[in-house]
Amino acid sequence: MFSFLFHKKVAELKKEMRETKEDLLNVSSYLDDLFSFLPIAVCDLNPSWVISNTNKSFEKLTGYTQVEIVGERLEKIFLEKEKIKGIQTELLNLKEIEIKNVELTLITREEKEVAVNVSFAVRRDARGNIVGFFVGITDISKLKKIQDETEQKIVQRTKELEKSRKALLNILEDTEEARRRAEEERKKTEVIIKNFVDGMLAFNKTKKLILINPKAEEFLKTKAAEVLGKDIRVLKKKNRRWAQLFKTAGEGMKEVFRKEMAISKSFFLEITTTIVESQGKENLILVILHDISREKLIEQMKSQFVSVAAHQLRTPLSIIKWSLSLLKEEKEFNREEKDLVLKAYQTNERMINLVNDLLNVARIEEGRFVYEPKIVEFSEIVESVYNSLKEYARQKKIEFKLEISEGKKIVKVDVEKISLAVKNLIENALKYTPEKGKVEVSVKERKRRHELVFSVRDTGVGIPKDQQERIFTKFFRGANVVRMQTEGTGLGLFITKNIIEAHGGKIWFKSQENKGTIFYFTLPLSF
Ligand code: ADP
Repeated sequence: MFSFLFHKKVAELKKEMRETKEDLLNVSSYLDDLFSFLPIAVCDLNPSWVISNTNKSFEKLTGYTQVEIVGERLEKIFLEKEKIKGIQTELLNLKEIEIKNVELTLITREEKEVAVNVSFAVRRDARGNIVGFFVGITDISKLKKIQDETEQKIVQRTKELEKSRKALLNILEDTEEARRRAEEERKKTEVIIKNFVDGMLAFNKTKKLILINPKAEEFLKTKAAEVLGKDIRVLKKKNRRWAQLFKTAGEGMKEVFRKEMAISKSFFLEITTTIVESQGKENLILVILHDISREKLIEQMKSQFVSVAAHQLRTPLSIIKWSLSLLKEEKEFNREEKDLVLKAYQTNERMINLVNDLLNVARIEEGRFVYEPKIVEFSEIVESVYNSLKEYARQKKIEFKLEISEGKKIVKVDVEKISLAVKNLIENALKYTPEKGKVEVSVKERKRRHELVFSVRDTGVGIPKDQQERIFTKFFRGANVVRMQTEGTGLGLFITKNIIEAHGGKIWFKSQENKGTIFYFTLPLSF
């Protein structure tokens, strides 16, 4: 019985052992398969650092077949041979049981260098004795490449940054230089403004005074500290001169060109206002005060001289006129003698006209041009002048017309002066229109503005475009009419403008050279 049981037990044990062996074989082949297809290159080393086994990934990475490499020392496939030996010593001395992630250079069978990451682990038996080593090798060449590229990019970027830093530094230097230069300029300007012979004021957009130079302080009897930062409303109450300044320049501080301001009988200032636009910054209003007392004095003296000379000439010229008009009627004279007298008479007339013009100009300039206004019908003045010039127009074969619109045109004017203005304009039109031309005089009413408009249109030589702005200045004569050798003083329009403006009217013109001219003026109606 015992023996039966024993045999049975032995049979069971044998079966169990067989099964265990089979299991072990299965595990071993499983491990072999796993080792073989592991995606990381792995090799086994014996304790003497000799390769004893490799897997497929190892073959693929190194290019060595298992047959070729088994039996070789591990150093064979690495560039850093000494380092590999060092690792072996370390592991053998059991300083470490594993060493991970050592960056090394693998040398393949084709002698290509590949960057790899290698980990080492000690293999031991059940009693703890070293029986070999595992070595796992990972290809990091791609990673390295990316790393290198990234490093290169970083180097490149750093270089660029350095460049930008330098550029910035340069800009900073330039800015500093520009600031220094601007400061220098500012100082220079300040010196110039301080020592400027003219008075200078500057207002900002809100009409506050932001600059006043010493000359302006002197002219306006003021101290900078008292007026800087103040606006026009305050300034005009400062003293009489400030008040007068704003009256002359206008409180709106629009651009003004050379307006005179009489401080006293012998002290005159000329005011020029300019709007300065500075690169999108707020506008500055610059006011220049120029002392013209000396010019005024000379002008006065000149006017007085002209006035005296003209007066002295007047009496003899009247006597000559009177004598020549008597001689003109002389029946005894032959044709030649008559012609001579007539020429002398006409020349004398021109002299009288010139003397009268000079006297009028002198009176205007000295403020002695006295007006004696009367209520009159304006049309009558025009008709009378028109009639007096009809003969002249007929001689020049000029079609001469007058058109007066319906209705009364009552004005309060100095008849003599307005007649002179009307005469000057019509005479010019006739004078500067060649034979067979056309001159049309017209008087119309502008009811809404309660004024009349006088105009005289001609088909004459016109005024050269580039000279038109000087037309109302003294002694101006157009280059074209000078070439034509026409008679004239260049004073008529200056006098005419003064007369019209003194009556509260306006005068202007339109002209095209060789086509014709049209002069206009307005006068306020009285009723
Ligand atoms: P004057 O006629 O004595 O020369 P004015 O002061 O009357 O002086 O005129 C000044 C200048 O203006 C003239 O010399 C002429 O050049 C120009 N002018 C005036 N009126 C006319 C006009 N109707 N047609 C062409 N030019 C004119």
